[in-house]
Amino acid sequence: MRTTGWLSLLVLLGFLAASLDASAGDADPLYRACVAQCEETGSIGDISMRHCQFSDSDVPINSSWYMQEPIYLQWKQLNCRSDCRYHCMMQRENEREKLGLKPVKYHGKWPFKRVSVFQEPASAIFSAVNLLAHFIGWLSFFLLVSYKLPLRPQSKRTYYEFTGLWHIYGLLSMNAWFWSAIFHTRDFDLTEKLDYSSAVALLGYSFILSLLRTFNVKDEASRVMFSAPILAFVTTHILYLNFYELDYGWNMMVCVTMGVGQLLVWAIWAGVTHHPSRFKLWTVVFGMALSMLLEVYDFPPHYGYFDAHSLWHLATIPLTWLWWSFIKSDAEFRTQVLMRKVK
Ligand SMILES: [Zn+2]
Repeated sequence: MRTTGWLSLLVLLGFLAASLDASAGDADPLYRACVAQCEETGSIGDISMRHCQFSDSDVPINSSWYMQEPIYLQWKQLNCRSDCRYHCMMQRENEREKLGLKPVKYHGKWPFKRVSVFQEPASAIFSAVNLLAHFIGWLSFFLLVSYKLPLRPQSKRTYYEFTGLWHIYGLLSMNAWFWSAIFHTRDFDLTEKLDYSSAVALLGYSFILSLLRTFNVKDEASRVMFSAPILAFVTTHILYLNFYELDYGWNMMVCVTMGVGQLLVWAIWAGVTHHPSRFKLWTVVFGMALSMLLEVYDFPPHYGYFDAHSLWHLATIPLTWLWWSFIKSDAEFRTQVLMRKVK
């Protein structure tokens, strides 16, 4: 309990420190001047930005308020800004390195080297592998409960009471990692909101699920009672992020609370239960808590690719595999117990 308390405090302080120095790079007047000039002229030094070259036909002739800019033009402008920011950042970072200065963040992010369309290749690829790990985990769970384990003779439903809930969990996880991969590939307003919303939905749902499973809540009415307040809060929070303000600090607090909350719930349960697979649970909880430290020591990218956040996404891959392995063991265990009761 004590160490976990310290851990959550550390995590919170880490996020605070990370958000404070978030604008160090883009506050630099040299960087700002570079971006402004690039967007105007469409070039920096000898690099010319393809997306910043606007022909006469691109400019809307009648720019009245009801004349919406064509979508492709908005897309071009978004890419122009993103390319200019990237090349100016790289230029500034080279100059800073020569002066012996350490890397700083730009618009809340470390200076990453791009690979083709990928803005943060490592995080994007690790997110995709997480997605794959969840798909394989969910598929093997599905095959286990639907075909390998016996079904209830009358209803043809599984003996395991949490089957449906884990299916939804699998879907929400795959959705969250899908948008994470997209967001780390291309960081726009829309992809950012989709990534944040999906992550919050997954965290909120898995928090509810941790309570339902550990308190062994089986009947519908009690399940609704347990989940309604969290569900209402999470929905309001997602609407707030999307339509009012994407408040990073507040969102971090919500995510850390729900994340640490469910880790605590599972950890305490693993401590008191005699579940045969409690050691898998312990390992996952311990591993998740450790990997959260990576978010605290938010270091800049090594070789321009691997920062703390990307390693965090790497660490969750084996944990995902182990987590689904626990879920499958739980299904087998509960089925055995219930079959024994029937006999
Ligand atoms: Zn990420």
